[in-house]
Amino acid sequence: MVTTDPSLRSATRRRIILFPTPFQGHINPMLQLANILHTHGFQITIIHAKFNAPNPSNHPHFSFKPINDGFAEIADQLATNQDASYVLKYLNKSCVDPFRDCLAGLLAEPGQDPVACLITDAAFYFAQAVADELKLPRMALRTSNLGCVLAYDVLPFNSKPACFYLTKQDTDYEASVPEFPLLKFKDIVKITTNPQGMGEFVTNMLTQMRASSGIIWNTFKELEEPDLETITQVFPVPSFTLGPFHEYFPATSSSLIEQDRTILSWLDKQAPKSVVYVSFGSVARITESEFQEVAHGLSNIGFPFLWVVRPGTVAGSEWLESLPENFVEGMGERGRIVKWSPQQEVLAHPATGCFWTHNGWNSTLESICEGVPMICSPCFVDQPINARYASDVWKIGVFLEDGFERTGIEMAIKRVMMDKEGEEIRERISCLKEKISKQYYMNFLMIQRKEVMERQETNGFS
Ligand code: UDP
Repeated sequence: MVTTDPSLRSATRRRIILFPTPFQGHINPMLQLANILHTHGFQITIIHAKFNAPNPSNHPHFSFKPINDGFAEIADQLATNQDASYVLKYLNKSCVDPFRDCLAGLLAEPGQDPVACLITDAAFYFAQAVADELKLPRMALRTSNLGCVLAYDVLPFNSKPACFYLTKQDTDYEASVPEFPLLKFKDIVKITTNPQGMGEFVTNMLTQMRASSGIIWNTFKELEEPDLETITQVFPVPSFTLGPFHEYFPATSSSLIEQDRTILSWLDKQAPKSVVYVSFGSVARITESEFQEVAHGLSNIGFPFLWVVRPGTVAGSEWLESLPENFVEGMGERGRIVKWSPQQEVLAHPATGCFWTHNGWNSTLESICEGVPMICSPCFVDQPINARYASDVWKIGVFLEDGFERTGIEMAIKRVMMDKEGEEIRERISCLKEKISKQYYMNFLMIQRKEVMERQETNGFS
């Protein structure tokens, strides 16, 4: 069963406990979902890791319970280890006891409403066994699109790990992957540096998604219609496509880094659809030479640009040390570099012409919702899959196929900003934006109707 109906009701059980994984791209959708559920009358408790803890004062209507995640022991590896499966598998072990204790304590609290269910990030697969032990239904929030999970389900992480180490010199590098022909071998080599580790993580996550009471997806039916039916066959538990969550609640309140809002007045001074917005999200890293190619690409194009360089983006640098000489002086008023932006507002600004993105799923959805064409530069995990969908299936972005190289960068920006191809991309993405706006409006009406009904019930009307 797949439903897009957001009215998850329960007559008596009005408490929901949620548990996000401690990363920006996962905290945002979980807190947005929590807000949606709160609007539907549920009390919300967030259990969270101490690492990347959300700020409770931004969510005074929720209660927060930190647990000791043991993350400090491996935190120094984050700067160098790009194997996402290592960190995720570690957290799935280190959180077991603190999470069980915290959850059992919450369930035993006297005088509280009973708990309707637990919702954890799908990546916290260990939580299913804890929920079973405590006899609590667990739902999994999968913060990616459906296509990514369908790909993860069949990619040969364990059976053919050598595929993930192909290089440009291998004849198959440009060929399609037989298990998931949308993807090329050059895409899957980006997913992970440790196929067996990733395979183990993916198997655990998908097995426990199948064992859950249901899966909530931050995606929408109109975008992934063809994959919806397959999902219900592959995951025979109820699936709920309730996204895009950020249409209801912006990501600003759950931002872990302070957003530089001064750039909004700079954007106000730029011509409509003239600015190239560049951001590679909260965890991706690039090399010093790739960083320099980005800088040369941006300085060679004539367009204004807004470039988010998160401290730590460039391996081995604090922030901007490896920019080419005189870059900042040369860009003058034409460019802005910031540490972190109010991304949703930037994408919604009339001056933004295109989004050069790493295709994290939140960024991809945010770009679709604002009708901003993309240049796709995926780095790792789900990003190469999202990028292929964006460029080859939905045709709403140009894939920067040959990585970070200044001539390719200039050509990609030109294709999106000046060519007929760019106009067609803009038309297609605007069409998707329109579909979401309609769905958002319908859901908004349902929330309003529910609030009116509740008020009537409280006042004794039926
Ligand atoms: N984001 C932001 N400011 C920035 C860059 C990103 O607020 O300068 C937000 C963005 O709106 C999105 C999240 O951070 O909600 C990044 O999530 P995504 O899934 O795109 O990528 P990840 O960081 O997980 O790689």
